[in-house]
Amino acid sequence: MGRDCPVCCELESPKRRIARDHVAGVYHMGNIALPGYLVIAPRRHVVRWMDLDREERDSLDRFRALAEKVLLETEPVRKVYFLSFGEVCSHLHIHCFPRTRWMAEDRPEGADIDGPGLFVRYRSTLACIRTPPEVTAMVQRLRKAFSGESEPFA
Ligand SMILES: [Zn+2]
Repeated sequence: MGRDCPVCCELESPKRRIARDHVAGVYHMGNIALPGYLVIAPRRHVVRWMDLDREERDSLDRFRALAEKVLLETEPVRKVYFLSFGEVCSHLHIHCFPRTRWMAEDRPEGADIDGPGLFVRYRSTLACIRTPPEVTAMVQRLRKAFSGESEPFA
């Protein structure tokens, strides 16, 4: 798809890239001040899960497992939500949303944690224009953590 697709553009741009191999990649979500909020996607402009080939599926799984491991080792992350909608952008992509301790605590006493509600609320309340330093620091840290799983950084 190329220049008209934000996921294609992000995957080919080194700006917030964490890692990639020859079929898939990981980048940090832009314009949201939430360190560790990642996107994992196939490099090919694939729209449906059933159109992924085995190598792409394997790579997405490998990146997803590593993202979960690294983020769960990061304070104050307590859980990682994996979501895929394809509404704003049809290019198949997985949001890796780090649910923190403070997000879980930000609810009425006795209420259950509302995962979809947290995702929607914090994507909105943490929206920003410039990349904050804590996100830049996390990008650097994640690049190191993923370096064994990535092709050399270009
Ligand atoms: Zn695309």
